[in-house]
Amino acid sequence: MSEITCAFCGGKGKDPFNLLSKLAACQVCGGTGKIKIDEPRIKCAFCKGAGVHPHSRMTCSACNGISAVTCGDDKEQCPDCDGAGHKAGKNMPCSVCGGIGVIHPVRKEK
Ligand SMILES: [Zn+2]
Ligand SMILES: [Zn+2]
Ligand SMILES: [Zn+2]
Repeated sequence: MSEITCAFCGGKGKDPFNLLSKLAACQVCGGTGKIKIDEPRIKCAFCKGAGVHPHSRMTCSACNGISAVTCGDDKEQCPDCDGAGHKAGKNMPCSVCGGIGVIHPVRKEK
């Protein structure tokens, strides 16, 4: 488990787009500016680690705005999108890998 700076709000803890109000807390980190994530992690391919959906002002639907995804060592580049997280010309995350660019993500155990 490690702690990363919230990419969606840049660690400020505030909604970066002021969608609700200027004082709204970041919906990804809950206003703390930090996110805990299990290791090993990879950068989300769909948002390229930005945490923001590339085509809207929403959180990235592949990583939920966290910018990274926990992924085991047995991961492989997604053959369907070649690791890009989306099909060329499509705004939706790849349906095979869910947008993270790799398949065989780590299973939740213990
Ligand atoms: Zn945040
Ligand atoms: Zn993402
Ligand atoms: Zn894919």
